[in-house]
Amino acid sequence: MKAAVYYAPGDIRIEERPEPAPAPDNLILQVSCCAICGTDLKLATIGNPRCHPPRIIGHEMVGRAVHVGRDVSGFDLGDRITLATTLACGRCRYCALGLGNMCPDAKPISYDFDGAFAELLAVPPLALAGGNAIKAPDSVPDEAAALSEPLSCAINAQALAGLKAGDRVLVIGGGPLGALNAEVAKARGAAEVMVVQRSEPRLSLLRRLRGITVIDGASQDVLSAVKDRTDGLGADVVIVCAPARDAQEEALRYARKGGAISLFASMPKDASAITLDSRLIHYGELRVVGASDSRPEHVAAAVDLMAQGKIDTAPIITHRVALENLHEGLDLMKTRQSLKVMVYPRGI
Ligand SMILES: [Zn+2]
Ligand SMILES: [Zn+2]
Repeated sequence: MKAAVYYAPGDIRIEERPEPAPAPDNLILQVSCCAICGTDLKLATIGNPRCHPPRIIGHEMVGRAVHVGRDVSGFDLGDRITLATTLACGRCRYCALGLGNMCPDAKPISYDFDGAFAELLAVPPLALAGGNAIKAPDSVPDEAAALSEPLSCAINAQALAGLKAGDRVLVIGGGPLGALNAEVAKARGAAEVMVVQRSEPRLSLLRRLRGITVIDGASQDVLSAVKDRTDGLGADVVIVCAPARDAQEEALRYARKGGAISLFASMPKDASAITLDSRLIHYGELRVVGASDSRPEHVAAAVDLMAQGKIDTAPIITHRVALENLHEGLDLMKTRQSLKVMVYPRGI
């Protein structure tokens, strides 16, 4: 079968690979589509020591079950299945605490197990044991279901930030995860969702999303734009989706007193120290919270929100490529021409 294989930083090859072997304790999925993640772009540029080459990459996927092992229960041939891709060990203290996304022994699909930029993907027993395979109902189209994993990261972050109905929310950074966070905030009942973005063509792409206020960070005064829409107070929740020091530092100024700031985007390893104004945190009783990855319950919640029609992923999928053109898709991400790029292993 055709697959995209990671060999080394910047070295991803489209090549023929053996099909995964059916086993009594696994599922085999025929991949319908798989979106390109920022982590795939990192592999294609700087690499990641957690990814063990040669490895088929790609994890934001949906597929149809073409093999259900005889020892596997709860799934039938033909089921449409999406994945929570961090496979926790199920035995450690973090797993016992219900924090499988913090599990030190987690084995992510596309790092430790082959991923979904391929015609077929094996769902390993560890994923089945952890509840990582989640069925998508017919009401959720393939491309939407494929985005359940990045959406689940936004759901995790917004739960940690305490985002609730009626909130006025500011998202800093209008890339794919900024757009998905905006959709999740709307789905959670936010009264106002603002997204700050500095450059084209992403500004124009964001304007296709319904019910979102787009702030042009290059030409508008962001603070007054936010205050104008929040009775002069600032946002209840600020979600920083730009991996930039100034974005994280300035986020405190855009929150109201008692508000929360989610540091959603991760910073480069050698440049992650930032300066936060502790007077703003102290006197404003601000909460600055992290968010990393997600757990199966968040993927299930993403699928539920889409089944209820509360999340519109269509305007976020801006490009589609066949697997052999994966590098074109990666370039679209790298040059910020796109929001989400969907990859079709068996052609468009
Ligand atoms: Zn991802
Ligand atoms: Zn664990």
